[in-house]
Amino acid sequence: MSDTEGIDQYGVLLYYKYAHIPNLDDLLSFYHSNCSQLSLLGRVRLSSRGVNVTVGGKLSCLESHIEALKAKDCVFEGTDFKLATCDEPLNDRVAEECGFTSLSIRIVEELVTLSSHPLLKSPEISNAGRHLSASEFHSSLQNADQKSQGNGLVLLDARNLYETRIGKFHAPNVETLDPQVRQYSDLSSWIDDNSEQLKGKHVLMYCTGGIRCEMASAYIKSKGAGFENVFQLFGGIQRYLEQFPDGGFFKGKNFVFDHRISVGSSDTNVLGTCLICHRSFDDYSSRCRCTYCRMLVLVCHNCQNEAALYVCELCQKQGKSIQSMQLIDTGELKTPLEGAELQNSSSNATLSPQMPKGDGKMSGPLESLESYACTGFGRTLPVLREEHRH
Ligand SMILES: [Zn+2]
Ligand SMILES: [Zn+2]
Repeated sequence: MSDTEGIDQYGVLLYYKYAHIPNLDDLLSFYHSNCSQLSLLGRVRLSSRGVNVTVGGKLSCLESHIEALKAKDCVFEGTDFKLATCDEPLNDRVAEECGFTSLSIRIVEELVTLSSHPLLKSPEISNAGRHLSASEFHSSLQNADQKSQGNGLVLLDARNLYETRIGKFHAPNVETLDPQVRQYSDLSSWIDDNSEQLKGKHVLMYCTGGIRCEMASAYIKSKGAGFENVFQLFGGIQRYLEQFPDGGFFKGKNFVFDHRISVGSSDTNVLGTCLICHRSFDDYSSRCRCTYCRMLVLVCHNCQNEAALYVCELCQKQGKSIQSMQLIDTGELKTPLEGAELQNSSSNATLSPQMPKGDGKMSGPLESLESYACTGFGRTLPVLREEHRH
């Protein structure tokens, strides 16, 4: 640490731990008192099966938090604490969306929601895929050769579409499967529908910080014969980029769920493109969202327009367009235009920019990340759940 980096440096701390928590209430009150004492802001999720935490604050306070945890409970032994220095949140809107303007501590049923289906039981986390360190993961990709079709390797991105838009793994002889889901709870259905692509393969899974692969790899392995060889990148893309600062096999930027928005490598290649003009663009700081499903979309500075409504690629595939939304709004029945009419040219549009009709308000920083309901198109769209993941 250089002399200029004083104790006032700001940081973000991410960690999760799957372990049996014998006394949840005790841990809850520990988090309440410890985090408030240290002025940490962010999200803490506790369940009887573990913890999932993203908090920000003074670096020295985050370090004290880690020390206090280790001293308190042997449950945290071996936990991968990911501590990164960064600037303090400057963009209030982003900080609020990411839950970094308040402290939210909650007891939840599941740390991450693998499926929104009430009957699907969560797989046994003890059956999760084997952890590969960043260097093991890297060598597997490096050793994949063309003749043997990548040694039967396949990469599986366990993240959401808006994350993979701006960065993903790419290795010459290995296929990267990109499920293109809006939210994590859609991933199990994708796995069900695409299990043939995974069967008999060595599946190398990755996500931002690792937690999503724990549950999803266990789910794939629960399918039995042919699904034994599932591996997960320990510490996720975050640890990989620390190990390979030039990006290694990871191209583009790592989307993160805090005010940093994304973290890149020294390779400045831009993977994303603007939804409207298709020019290279990968900056989510303006928080443009799809009018229908509220998923984040990439719209470059030139194409951003206060009055514009955006339709993400998934909604476009489902035949939705801004034009059809306006027609339903005004009660007119016309043939909806093919494809998306992205710019709002009609003067009778009643929709406010980037905000669904009938909802209008974010439900607060805790739920705001992906979670508020969107009504429009004459029916309620599924709620994008709060997915606190890394
Ligand atoms: Zn553009
Ligand atoms: Zn959409």
